[in-house]
Amino acid sequence: MTRADHPRKDRSGDAAPGGPGSPPGIAGADQRHGLSGVDPDVLRAWMVGAGQPGYRADQLRDALWGGRVASLDDARTLPTALRGRIDAAFRFDTIIETDIMLADDGRTERALHLLSDGVLVESVLMHYPARADRRERDTLCISSQAGCAVGCPFCATGELGLERDLETAEIVDQVRAAARRLMANGRRLTNIVFMGMGEPFLNLDRVLAAAEAITDPRRFGLGARHITLSTSGVVPGIRRLTDIAPQYTLAVSLHAARDPLRDVLVPLNRRWPVAAVVDAASEYQATTGRRVSYEYVMIDRVNDTYEDATALVALLRGRSAHVNLIPMNDVAHTPWRASPLDRIDAFAEVLRAAAIGTTVRRNRGQEVGAACGQLAAERSGQPAAPVVARRRALLVEASARALRGERAPARTERGQ
Ligand code: SAH
Ligand code: SF4
Repeated sequence: MTRADHPRKDRSGDAAPGGPGSPPGIAGADQRHGLSGVDPDVLRAWMVGAGQPGYRADQLRDALWGGRVASLDDARTLPTALRGRIDAAFRFDTIIETDIMLADDGRTERALHLLSDGVLVESVLMHYPARADRRERDTLCISSQAGCAVGCPFCATGELGLERDLETAEIVDQVRAAARRLMANGRRLTNIVFMGMGEPFLNLDRVLAAAEAITDPRRFGLGARHITLSTSGVVPGIRRLTDIAPQYTLAVSLHAARDPLRDVLVPLNRRWPVAAVVDAASEYQATTGRRVSYEYVMIDRVNDTYEDATALVALLRGRSAHVNLIPMNDVAHTPWRASPLDRIDAFAEVLRAAAIGTTVRRNRGQEVGAACGQLAAERSGQPAAPVVARRRALLVEASARALRGERAPARTERGQ
């Protein structure tokens, strides 16, 4: 199946009477609201407005969140005529089709989801068997946008640019899809990380609504502490989260502690420099009591030197932060490679000597983040060879300049 040959529905104007606000308005997309993004009280009001007893709303909710019903047709507790009316107003599932690919001896499931306008997004389910010190875990990495505007050069999603924001239900339905697959095997989802495609803090309204649906005891009911939101450093978004003060874990994608290099690796850094990002994250930690984790993709001889490690120590010392060092996954358009493990270990030792909690992620295929986002980018087609060559040359130039400590002149970044 390709994007082009998928039938598209267009039911604009079909929004529910008394429904949940304005329709999503994505060109070419099915305009009906995704049910998993609709507040249960709004759904109940719709049922009553449709002349139905309130318990029908409970039956619909059970079908939606119980994990056993894959389509509205299978929701047999609801009368056929009512199912027809619900279907005219809402979508039971915003994901049209999902392709699953297994990796790591079946412990990692990469899911490629087709949305109603032909856009592809990815989620990754990772199984961690029980160990002496830890229960078994099933962690799902989900996407918040199709593509990403930030454009980190080592990231396959960044290479796509931003296609569009995901709707709340499109985010939540990745969770429902994985939960259904797990339940069929007698397992359940234990953790959710927003580390798939996209920058969650640039689609924050929908991301927060999705997290609310996932944690609401009437809906998915996962504990807030089992959710991680990852950001490349959108300072106003971190502040907004601090004002709400949920119990989510905040992960900050740092990748460099010095501005000239971070300007290259995480282009948002030109707008919100690294010190401001870490200050905002520390505020979140102080307000919520939740320890912030810092992600650091290790790129051979780009950001893994002794100077980088000491700069990171200077930035994080005394903040009781935790650092995850992740060997870079190879991406076609970069000239870069993962740091060898001995360099990663040496880097980790500098951090640990300064009492900064540090974990080295060795199992690359399994890693959250490292496993996410690349599949959809691969499927969207690699850029043509001359473009790749030009981009590599520019990156070599930019990183050489950054390693000399020079900041490139500011330019307008995509999506800002
Ligand atoms: N946009 C958000 C969340 C999604 S990216 C963010 O950047 O935080 C999730 C994680 O995957 C980030 O930490 C990102 O830096 C990491 N990542 C992206 N490309 C990678 C690669 N090629 N190898 C390893 N990790 C990568
Ligand atoms: Fe976007 Fe995160 Fe990839 Fe950077 S690492 S391009 S912020 S998805």
